[in-house]
Formats: sequence, C-alpha cells, structure tokens
Amino acid sequence: MKTTIINANIFTSNKDMPYAKSMSFEHGKITEVSCNNLSGNNIIDAKGMFITPAFLDIHMHPLWIALNYDKFACLPPHIYSIHEIQNEIIKRRKNNPTKWILGWGYDEGKMKEKRICTKYDLDSACNDFPVIIERTCSHICICNTAALLALNINPTNHDGVLRESEKFEAFLKIPKCTNDEIIHNLKLFSNDCFSKGITTVSEMLGNQNDLDIYLEAEIPQRILFTYDYNAIKDMDNLPPITNPKIKIQGIKLLADGSVSGQTAWCSKPYLNTENNGLSTVSDTEIIDAMNIAKKYQLQLIVHAMGDNAINHILSLKTDDWLSKIPSLRIEHYAILYNDLLKSTKNKHVAIVSQPIFMYAEIESYLKNLGNEFKSFCYPYKSILDQNIPLAFSSDAPATSWTDPFNPFIAINSACKRQSYNGIDSGINQSISIEDAIHCYTSNAAKIVGLDNVGMIKEGMSADFIILNQNLFEKDIPIEDTLVLQTYMDGELKFTRNIQ
Ligand SMILES: [Zn+2]
Repeated sequence: MKTTIINANIFTSNKDMPYAKSMSFEHGKITEVSCNNLSGNNIIDAKGMFITPAFLDIHMHPLWIALNYDKFACLPPHIYSIHEIQNEIIKRRKNNPTKWILGWGYDEGKMKEKRICTKYDLDSACNDFPVIIERTCSHICICNTAALLALNINPTNHDGVLRESEKFEAFLKIPKCTNDEIIHNLKLFSNDCFSKGITTVSEMLGNQNDLDIYLEAEIPQRILFTYDYNAIKDMDNLPPITNPKIKIQGIKLLADGSVSGQTAWCSKPYLNTENNGLSTVSDTEIIDAMNIAKKYQLQLIVHAMGDNAINHILSLKTDDWLSKIPSLRIEHYAILYNDLLKSTKNKHVAIVSQPIFMYAEIESYLKNLGNEFKSFCYPYKSILDQNIPLAFSSDAPATSWTDPFNPFIAINSACKRQSYNGIDSGINQSISIEDAIHCYTSNAAKIVGLDNVGMIKEGMSADFIILNQNLFEKDIPIEDTLVLQTYMDGELKFTRNIQ
C-alpha cells in the first residue's frame, strides 16, 4: 500500500530539488517527492518533523565493533576518570560475568587523574576475577592481579601494565568470542546502526572467514565488503555472493600509520622530533593490489593519512579501471602540508574521511602536530570547492570515543570545526550542514556506486530518517541530534521510545 508523508521538513540530498514538504513510497521505493502536500489514503502527518535520507557509513569495522560489544569503553562521553572505570568494573562484577571483564580505549590524556591506571586501581574494584583494560593505542594493557595470575604472570611487584609483545601475547590467551557470539553481537550492532539512521554499512578489512560470518549473520543493512589485500592476494578467484544485500566493494591497503602513533608518513617531522612517520607498503605491493583490483573490477581503497603517503599513492596511479565510480579511494586524507588537491582531482580519486578524529582525538593532534594542525588538517572546504568526491564515515571503533559511529558527531565536527572540549580544529575549513549531510548520504552512495540510496528522490529506495530537531536551525547542538525513526526500503526499522 502506498504511504504518504505530509507536512514534513525534508532535506533530500538531491541537488535538483534539495527541499520538500511531502513524499510517497510504495513497495520499498519512493514514488513521489513534492514541495506541496501529496494526497493518498495512508497518510502520516509529520507535523513539521525534519527528514533526511538514511546514512551510509562506507568505512567502518563492524566485526571489530562486535568483538567490543561485551567490553566497556573507558572513554568520554561516559567515562572521564579512573574512579568511573572502577565503578563500571564493580557493576559488571556484581552481574556474575562468565567472561573476563574487559575495557577498551583507555587514554590517560582524557582522564581526570592524567596518569596511567595500574593493577592497584583495578584490584580495589575487583580482586577475585580477571579484569583487563586496553589502552587506546592497542599496544598497552593493564591487568588486575586475577588477570595476571590467569595469564601465568607473577603479580608480585608487578604494576599490571603490559606493553608491546607482552600485551599481544596476553591478548592471545584471553578467552575468545565464539562465532555465535560474534553473530549475536553483529545483530546488536545492526540495531545500533538503525538507531543512528544508518542503513548501509561497510566492512573495511575482511577475509573469507569474515565474509562467511556476514553471510550467516544476515543483518538487514546493505553491506559493502572490502577484502584486506593480504587476504585477497593469494586467492585464485572470488566466490560468488548469493546474498543481494552484500556487495564486494574493494581491496584495502595501508600506506602509512596514524597521527596518534606518529606513524602517518608526512613531508615534515612531528613536533619536536626528527620523525616523519613511515610508509607501510612497498611499490610492488601497491601495483600488485592495483592489478588485483583491475582483475576483479573492484575499488582500491588506500589508508593514507600523511601527505607523503597520499602523494606517493597518487603518483603510482596511471589509469582508471572502473567506469562508473572512482577506481581509487584515499581514506582519511588527514595531513596536507602540501596542496595535493589538484593531483587528487586530476587522478579522479575519491576521498573518504572521518571528521570525528579531530573532534575526539584533539590531544594527539595538538601533541604531535602542534597548535597549527588546524591550518593543514582535513581541508574539507577546499576539497569540496575543487569538486573532488568527498564522503564521510566513522572508521569505528578506531577512535577515542564511546559512540564512534554516530554520524551527528562527525557532521557537527565538519560544520563547527571544534573538538569535544571546544578547541578550534580549523574554522576556515568548515562546511555547510547541507554539504555535511551530502557527505554522509548522496556523496557516499555515489563513491561506492549504490545508485538506489543516498537521496530522497523518485525511484530511489525509501531509506530515510526522522530527526528530533531541524539541523538547519541556528546554534543547535548538532551532536545531540536523535533519530526518532529509521525507514529502510519503506519498512520502519527503528522507533525511539520517548518518555
Ligand atoms: Zn579503518
């Protein structure tokens, strides 16, 4: 049956008709969009509610998020102190856990105490059951006495802090999630995505086993699956996909490291160092990855944060092997000491970036790049002015924030260019709310080649969301926006209970 929404405040993401008042949909597709109220039998009066297309998050790591579901985030906006971590551990111990109590994302720079937490902090919250807190860098963890004993580490005179190889060995011994548990958690993740208005997700670094988990989990979102280069390079062929919701999107390669690890490969050294970061891939591997991408007609998706890494990848691209979408995507595109926009444009490359990084990880940008970082990081306005395809995404859970794939935090960061604690992150490069929504909807859909989502337009899938506030109103807290309802293919997938 046809459904018609009237009296709405619709932002369509369709540049030919950006605003509308009414829309109809039937059999999962939008049949009409109008600036006047449409008529019909099954009418929903939106009473002025704000509606946009549903979001696509085209760079994220759902399997990693699924593994984190049983853990707790030691991060703002929920945790700001070691004391609050202790309270969380006490609460979890009371619930008689069957698995170890695990926390992730610890960052002393964000904690009130400004120090690394130790075994003694954890023991005072729980001394009879293993507890481990992982640091945000993932190279350090903190164990309580029970965890040290379970890992066969002598706890006498040990502060519980494990680093590098000791940490990685410890993590191999922590009881693992079963496939059934991962699938259960992927379903929780899917519900979480609907609650944030996301109807298209992506797996950004997968292998064949990972793909099998998605095939078994059958989550309702559209899934863009990207093979890790190291997983695909030795495969003879790609098995056909029977689930129409899953699309094999690309091949992923990492060309450098991160800002927080001072490993993003830059043309200038990090603040007060002689370190420029590093390249993490050889030319032979890059060219091989391009050839595999050509063979399977996939996108090559390259993680490149520093300008040297970006420039190097651009210099190795000689042709376009895909006709409808950009053959090469550069992910992050963070540090631009040099203007690489012209060559990015000339090489027909798309940029997929994460505005949440400068919002949530401000401490590491200031520490490693200095106060000037705002003048050369994430030049979104210049990218859009050059008409280079730009999409936003979360890279969740790879950032220091409890709610990492909330699109409104990213949209807020791109528009207001302010970190979570109010520090300017480059107001000169701020973009309009319209453009920020484009980056999470129509631009993202275009870059990945999904031509049925990302806009509220006749013929498109009826994927749209109803919000609790009008994003065009002045001075509203964009980051606090709530999705009230999410529709996918014309079906209501999420409704928020408001007391
Ligand atoms: Zn990533």
